[in-house]
Amino acid sequence: MMKQKLDHIRKETLAAIAAAKTAQDIEKIEQKVFGRKNGTLTESLKMLKDISGEVRKEVGQKANELKDELQKALENARVALAEKEEASLVFDISEPSLPRAASGTLHPITLIQQDLEDVLSSMGFMILDGPELESDFYNFEALNIPTTHPARDSQDTFYVKGHSTWLMRTHTSSMQVRALREYGAPVMAVVPGRCFRNEATDARHEHTFFQLEGFMVGENITFCHLKGVLEAIAKHLYGPDTRIRLRPKYYPFVEPGVNGEVTCMFCKGSGCRLCKQTGYLEIFGAGMIHNSVLRAGNLDPEKVQGFAFGLGLTRLAMLKYGIDDIRLFESQDFSFLSQFTSI
Ligand SMILES: [Zn+2]
Repeated sequence: MMKQKLDHIRKETLAAIAAAKTAQDIEKIEQKVFGRKNGTLTESLKMLKDISGEVRKEVGQKANELKDELQKALENARVALAEKEEASLVFDISEPSLPRAASGTLHPITLIQQDLEDVLSSMGFMILDGPELESDFYNFEALNIPTTHPARDSQDTFYVKGHSTWLMRTHTSSMQVRALREYGAPVMAVVPGRCFRNEATDARHEHTFFQLEGFMVGENITFCHLKGVLEAIAKHLYGPDTRIRLRPKYYPFVEPGVNGEVTCMFCKGSGCRLCKQTGYLEIFGAGMIHNSVLRAGNLDPEKVQGFAFGLGLTRLAMLKYGIDDIRLFESQDFSFLSQFTSI
């Protein structure tokens, strides 16, 4: 009776193993036969204790042999299936490759911005972000540009309907006083970002453009520090032979203020069409932060000084890539954008 049962288990299990197609199938069979609770062979072995004497010895031996045989068969099947699976993974290197999925590219202004962020953060400047919808106070008042100041005319912008005190920032300088109030002195930070002007657009004017503002405030900060930083940026952008020229220029929020130029990267200073034969290109505005601005930032101008500079990221990108129409940057024109892959 018991022998027949074992024979039956043997036949059934071997047939199942032969039909198994996956490792999971093998596992199921193993569970069915050797499972602790209801395994067919497990149950049969348990029943051995009810048999007596010689028969028990004989059947016991047979059951153990069957156990070994089935375990071996399961293991062999497992190995064979794994080999089969591995063989199916071998690929043909002569097969033509699948077409590459189209990938996007970084915007030329993003490339310039990331490059400057790298070099400036290596100099110790932290990178700050700021609101594009700004208050009149931070954009103008705190920067020494009161309501009646003529500088407001050249920085007309977009206002929120019904809220004359909220506007789209006209420069990233609006973060200066915010940062001074937040961090106090000493502080070194740069603020890259989008700025806005309400003006008629043409090849050289756009309602949206990008700037990068930088400033450093602390004890004994002098114009020499400013010059050193500007020189480092210019040399990073246009090579070690680049020279800078600083000439007085008025900005309400600095005193003294300068117009920063670099030797033209195309003619190396000898004069060409791009630099209008001057040998120099204007790329930044800068100066020592005005006492009124430091005071607006809750700092005492008797104790701390600082410098600030602004770069037009849009202008830098136009110069670097020879782009002659500023409107292309906001055009979403894929054939324009896909030309820029790396810096
Ligand atoms: Zn030139």
